[in-house]
Amino acid sequence: MSLTLYNDLTRKKEPFVPLKEGEVSFYSCGPTVYDYFHIGNARPFIVFDVLRRYLEHQGYKVTFVQNFTDIDDKMIHRAHREGITVPELAERFIAEYRKDAGALGIHEPTVAPRATEHIPEIIDTIRKIIDNGHAYVSGGDVYFDVKSWPKYGVLCKQNLDDLEAGARVEPGEVKRDPLDFALWKGEKPGEPAWDSPWGRGRPGWHIECSAMSSKYLGETIDIHSGGVDLLFPHHENEVAQSEAATGKQFVRYWLHNGFLLIDSEKMSKSLGNFLTARAALEKYSPLAIRLFMLSAHYRSPINFAPEGLQQAAAGVTRLRNCRGDLDFAAKNRAGDNSGFDMAALTAGLEKLDADFHTAMDDDFNTAAALGVLFEVVHLINTSLKDHEVLPPEFFEVCRRALDTYDGILGVIGPDEAEEGSPEDAEIEKLIEERAAARKAKNFARSDEIRDQLRDRGIVLEDTPQGTKWKREI
Ligand SMILES: [Zn+2]
Repeated sequence: MSLTLYNDLTRKKEPFVPLKEGEVSFYSCGPTVYDYFHIGNARPFIVFDVLRRYLEHQGYKVTFVQNFTDIDDKMIHRAHREGITVPELAERFIAEYRKDAGALGIHEPTVAPRATEHIPEIIDTIRKIIDNGHAYVSGGDVYFDVKSWPKYGVLCKQNLDDLEAGARVEPGEVKRDPLDFALWKGEKPGEPAWDSPWGRGRPGWHIECSAMSSKYLGETIDIHSGGVDLLFPHHENEVAQSEAATGKQFVRYWLHNGFLLIDSEKMSKSLGNFLTARAALEKYSPLAIRLFMLSAHYRSPINFAPEGLQQAAAGVTRLRNCRGDLDFAAKNRAGDNSGFDMAALTAGLEKLDADFHTAMDDDFNTAAALGVLFEVVHLINTSLKDHEVLPPEFFEVCRRALDTYDGILGVIGPDEAEEGSPEDAEIEKLIEERAAARKAKNFARSDEIRDQLRDRGIVLEDTPQGTKWKREI
């Protein structure tokens, strides 16, 4: 059993075999930091973070690079509008990106390079493309000569005539062919610019990814991912540039996630259904958003709508309750139970573990993997219900299973019991006070405490072993 991935380059599922045994080089296109990122972009950030975690779980040493595009037209326009510099704008939204990505449980990349900090590498890549006869200087700009590159269209699977029909020449561009795209843009008044052999200017968008990817991952990389909206022209152009510069294959496995719709419509500012991840996080818990994103296959479209999110939130509650119940029982119900069939439980968990890996190995099917996680929860819940006392080993193996899957999917979240935050301590104190009040038959006070906690989203459950509490998600 081994990992297979659907490769957009070959349009089929292929066994994943990295270039270097035991190591994976992985590039994912990052945000243009001119605004908060929207919930559609949260999808690739979450799903490819999970793929990276799964590869790590499988023992690979993964170098995961995700860039920040910190110079482009949108950045320049917004900085002008706000009367600040482009670097100031970039600094602000890189910080905001990190805040939202962190809240969504997305791990930091191994390297998060910024375009403006790689101008020499970008210039070097452009120079190689010119030297190899696939780019030309026109005015102060440099363009990639698409007609000189017969493999153009290799990723998007369209021929040049069809592509030509959709190509546009932007005002101010002086190129030989509408399909040609800018590698370097000559300086315009009031715009940031750097020195180059072709005069002062700034890099085009596509070339950054080619330059930064080869700097940190080498000329040929294992996986490159991004949203399907980036497939053409961004990724097609990256392939052309990198291969024209190096003469080597650029990417071995191309992965693209499907669109995210909002209430069944494509998200757009004009439709008024534009939703930032920040705004989504005000409405839904990060765990619910993660579980929702992983509940569909990454290549399928997904519809971000309240019903789906509520269902995901209920799923998170189920997972967290299972772990909370397990931990509570571990403290109060562990004991010598030779009647419990530990071998059967272990066999059950092993079978489910195999199912989990089969799902993830099948083109990284997180929807099926989540289904397996809920079967694990069912198995744990059933054992807890059917047996008053359970052997300590039961708690160990169950907890380990939940932690392993959560380490990959990140849908159960931090452990309240171990978290020990000041708020948790305060809740524990109130619960103790309530127990004392009940003992003294001061039911008015004990009810008051219960209501007070309920208002804060804390639900109490009285059991023969004491009072349990959990947060409503
Ligand atoms: Zn890119």
